[in-house]
Amino acid sequence: MQKGNIGITTENIFPVIKKFLYSDHEIFLRELVSNAVDATQKLKTYAMRGDFKGDLGDLTIRVSVDKEAKTLTISDRGIGMTAEEIDKYINQIAFSGANDFLEKYKDDAQAIIGHFGLGFYSAFMVADRVDIVTLSMQEGAQAVKWTCDGSPAYEITECEKADRGTDIVLHVADDCQEFLENAKVESLLRKYCHFLPVAIAFGKKTEWKDGKQVPTDEDNVINDTNPLWTRTPSTLKDEDYRNFYRDLYPMADEPLFWIHLNVDYPFHLTGVLYFPKIKNNLDINRHKIQLYCNQVFVTDEVENIVPEFLTLLHGVIDSPDIPLNVSRSYLQSDANVKKISQYITKKVSDRLQSIFKTERAVYEEKWNDLKLFIHYGMLSQEDFYEKAKAYALLTDVDGKHYTYDEYRDLVKPTQTDKDGNLICLYASDTTAQYAYIAEAQKKGYNVLLMDGQLDSPLVQMLEQKMEKTRFSRVDADVIDRLIVKSDSRPHALGAEESAQLCGVFRSALPKVDKVEFHVETESMGVTSAPVVITQSEYMRRMKEMSHLQAGMSFYGEMPDMYTVVLNADHRLVQRVLADATTAMADKLAPIDAELAGLQARRAAIEKKGEGKAYNDVPAEDREALNQCDADIKAQQDKKDAAYAEYAAGNATISQLVDLALLQNGLLQGEALAKFVERSIDMIGK
Ligand code: ADP
Repeated sequence: MQKGNIGITTENIFPVIKKFLYSDHEIFLRELVSNAVDATQKLKTYAMRGDFKGDLGDLTIRVSVDKEAKTLTISDRGIGMTAEEIDKYINQIAFSGANDFLEKYKDDAQAIIGHFGLGFYSAFMVADRVDIVTLSMQEGAQAVKWTCDGSPAYEITECEKADRGTDIVLHVADDCQEFLENAKVESLLRKYCHFLPVAIAFGKKTEWKDGKQVPTDEDNVINDTNPLWTRTPSTLKDEDYRNFYRDLYPMADEPLFWIHLNVDYPFHLTGVLYFPKIKNNLDINRHKIQLYCNQVFVTDEVENIVPEFLTLLHGVIDSPDIPLNVSRSYLQSDANVKKISQYITKKVSDRLQSIFKTERAVYEEKWNDLKLFIHYGMLSQEDFYEKAKAYALLTDVDGKHYTYDEYRDLVKPTQTDKDGNLICLYASDTTAQYAYIAEAQKKGYNVLLMDGQLDSPLVQMLEQKMEKTRFSRVDADVIDRLIVKSDSRPHALGAEESAQLCGVFRSALPKVDKVEFHVETESMGVTSAPVVITQSEYMRRMKEMSHLQAGMSFYGEMPDMYTVVLNADHRLVQRVLADATTAMADKLAPIDAELAGLQARRAAIEKKGEGKAYNDVPAEDREALNQCDADIKAQQDKKDAAYAEYAAGNATISQLVDLALLQNGLLQGEALAKFVERSIDMIGK
């Protein structure tokens, strides 16, 4: 019997391991099973090279729980260890600057384990005593038992063991009894060992017999030793990829496409990435890529390893070249990780490009499910934008798809304004904006559909990237003002008439909370609607962005501002103007005369003070000016009251205003009820 101390410099490492690694302590099982796999793989290699001549036999690794003895055992039939090897590999742990390191990476279990090669010692996170019972593959070897209770003291004795290989027996600590539950152990095995390359059995399969589950003779193998990503792509069928996806995510929809990654130089990486159907919620789709290292599950948090937008993909990446022994934040600056990240981005882009080129119809069909992902990539990563702009699509309201170049060619002849700017029109809701779309199409313009979650920022970005190109929603203004083709456009009305029309219509607008209306006239042609309500592109975008971005709440607080445009060419509007002019002539004449006098007076006072500093203007002049302004305001109010009185008795005005509001979903509550009543009355007449 040999006694000794484990060769570590820190007096008592186990409490430290336990403490620092507590959050992640279930990985002990992965570490121990991985060691068993390594020992088995080594044996196979020796056998292949002729260094081991014995019979390999059944190499299944067996994990078992003995609830009574409170032990969890991992048994392999691998190379085993001699007493010397235990001394070398288990007793002497290389250690340097242990305390510094632990302090630095105390939140990072992976780093500690990787750095120290504490794989085996992670057993002490859950066990207060660990036995190794092992028989080396070497001919005539003596079986040995190593036992250690968590202090640096260990004991080695010779023992009996019939079979080659190693049993690691964990005497599970009282506060870790959950690791004696079959369900718990099985779920951990499935999580961490699902794709290990050697069969791992956890007990026997059970079957339903005489009203209860009974064990069968068949091993309950929990892993797939030959997972899809390790196989040669040319031997795989679409169905294999779909099945593997289902195995990984039993609840998910069918994937759209997949990419088989396989690279040997300058780093090793294999894997399969799937494009999932991303409906609307970016977040629930994340964290679906699993990272493996030689088929050992490492993590499903790949944020620092693949670019952020690629975390929307699903699937598996397996690479021994991703350093696990560094802190997560350090990962991003690791040269290999950078290369891996670039490689994956390029692969993803190439794949999309090739589907686009060779199967455009299929690509278009799936565009709707794909666009959120592609737009996210374009918005978050410059180099991806540069690649994706060749195959990103724009879709018009009729469902036709165009690349950016195709679309520019399509609309350039018709939608270039007088200053040479290309104006792209879009709708965000084909139902709500139906009339505006129809109006644009009547002009021969094309209207895009931009109803995606990321379309607002996308539009913003495209305007920056594309030269002399602007996007405007179809209801941002009347169509001739959206795409202005000539400098001076005829206007049917003079300033006076225009003011009068605006006056009567303004008074007929309902008071809506947090909504402001601005009324103006415009010659829109005899076939266009009499009244059109628009909302400025700029204000609308600012408001939309204020919902998405912090620090923009100023815009969020602003009322919605609409422009009510009266079509001066429309016969009903002209009739209102003619009727109002006649009916209000007597009432307005004295007010207008008074206003003219006041304005003349005001101009005279202003002239006197021209060029003078405020303090040099005599006080009485300043007062007179203030008085003038007050009087003008009073006359204006009188005028507005006259308009209101007139409009109140004129059903045509209310009706025209209400119809325009109705078309924009702005007519609600009492105003809507009144409209309905008035309409019924009008039918009755
Ligand atoms: P690592 O696996 O990173 O080398 P470990 O602490 O997990 O570190 O294991 C230390 C060494 O102990 C291994 O490299 C191996 O030589 C030996 N070892 C551990 N488990 C087994 C086993 N089940 N069979 C044979 N050798 C083992």
